[in-house]
Amino acid sequence: MNSSTPPVALVTGASRGIGRGIAVALAKSGWRVGINFASNQSAADETLALVRAAGGTAEIIPGDVANRVQRQTMIDRTLVLFGRFDALINNAGVAPESRDDLLDGSEAAYDRVMNINLKGPYFLSQIAAKLMLSQIAAGTIPRGFIINISSVSAYAISTNRGEYCVSKAGMAMMTGLFASRLANENIVVHDVRPGVIETDMTEAVKAKYDKLLAEGLTPIRRWGQPEDVGACVAAILSGAFSYSTGQVFDVDGGYHLRQL
Ligand code: NAP
Repeated sequence: MNSSTPPVALVTGASRGIGRGIAVALAKSGWRVGINFASNQSAADETLALVRAAGGTAEIIPGDVANRVQRQTMIDRTLVLFGRFDALINNAGVAPESRDDLLDGSEAAYDRVMNINLKGPYFLSQIAAKLMLSQIAAGTIPRGFIINISSVSAYAISTNRGEYCVSKAGMAMMTGLFASRLANENIVVHDVRPGVIETDMTEAVKAKYDKLLAEGLTPIRRWGQPEDVGACVAAILSGAFSYSTGQVFDVDGGYHLRQL
């Protein structure tokens, strides 16, 4: 192992959607990529083919981020396959299976979303950060990155999917916590906050957002694409923002702007 080999990023939930966009963008930037998925092996194979078609190197890393044992296995496997570990991209996430009014949502639905969207990334970051610290001390990697893919739902209220909003708001605090703890250890932590992105997750509400976007929901009146998020993550991992940590990167067509 040495820092002359290309750097390595594990992208959770890279089989589809935004994670796939990130995996391909990083591969094009010279990163070797761990493509994590939970259940959809054929989609992960498609991402692998896209990375290779782009001239990149990747390995598939199965694992459920909500499972403690599998979290450890995912990190271990990435290190074994590539020989170094420079970046964790906490992208895997789910929407609630049904949109229930805040007064009716069940504990089971809350636990499912929170375990995947917040508890998983929190403890995966813990494992990854310790590994990065030991590699930095050994001179194997020069620095580390943790990128959390949260959402505009970290601050925008949807009363029919409260558990999703709470999970993303928690991820925003998680970013600050890890950024602060690791700031002087050469590991930066950022919050990439997508708006309305065209993926399987938003397929069920496509007609609703087609109309809202046409009416000006976002100042840039179009759907965001996984490539838009991938480009942002690749820019951060280029090291261009060398004196920044705990930053929010809005990739939302300007949705966060307040307008009168
Ligand atoms: P998506 O198209 O539904 O893809 C979800 C990805 O997460 C898949 O690769 C899936 O793997 C993986 N995944 C789900 N549960 C997992 C688990 N327990 N362990 C490991 N991987 C798991 O979703 P997306 O739209 O790309 O969203 C990606 C992230 O961006 C999520 O965190 C989401 O909350 C966030 N986001 C999305 C939007 C949007 O508009 N789409 C906006 C803001 C934020 P399988 O293929 O194996 O199921």
